[in-house]
Amino acid sequence: KTTVKILGVKFDKLDFDDAYQRFTTFMMQDETKMIFTPNSELVMMAQDDDAFRQILNEGDLTVPDGIGIILASRIHHLELTERIPGIDLMAKMLAYANRSNKSIFLFGAKPGVAEKAAQKIAEQYGNIKIVGVQDGYYDERDELRILDKINEVKPDILFVALGAPKQEKWIYKYRKLLNVKVAMGVGGSIDVWAG
Ligand code: UDP
Repeated sequence: KTTVKILGVKFDKLDFDDAYQRFTTFMMQDETKMIFTPNSELVMMAQDDDAFRQILNEGDLTVPDGIGIILASRIHHLELTERIPGIDLMAKMLAYANRSNKSIFLFGAKPGVAEKAAQKIAEQYGNIKIVGVQDGYYDERDELRILDKINEVKPDILFVALGAPKQEKWIYKYRKLLNVKVAMGVGGSIDVWAG
């Protein structure tokens, strides 16, 4: 089996490099692929939220962000070997985008933060195309406008930082309408990039 379940949440049995390789295959395909990186907190959250658990289980790539999941897997002899922090996977994805002339969109965090993160990312990855940013504090009624804003610029990669489970639910809800190759829930990572 290539996946395991921890308290009902699916994880792909991959080390960091294989997870990254899987991401690169997503970039060659047409359908929007969803990447989730749950930590123990999210797995606990998913216990009382069936919709959230099902969404995590439908991730095209779901990898453990945090040692808690690895420890749980050891206790249950489930062979998850390596923790795959979302922030590290994001960095590898940014490096890939930089090398391959791919475009990204940063969606989430407080107003002004994604712009700042975009600046920092551009400093580090001079070749990357940051085609848009959008803060994560919007009116429900603006959701479709945000979807349009993203689709107009057709980013290859969409990073969504709305906190869990909001970001995973948003990605799942719009996955069929999104004009992106990869959508990834990144939690606090846009804040981290902004510094
Ligand atoms: N966030 C957002 N909209 C919201 C709630 C949260 O954009 O309605 C952002 C928040 O500003 C932060 C990110 O989501 O940048 C992650 O939030 P948090 O640290 O609570 O989530 P975690 O990383 O623990 O999943």
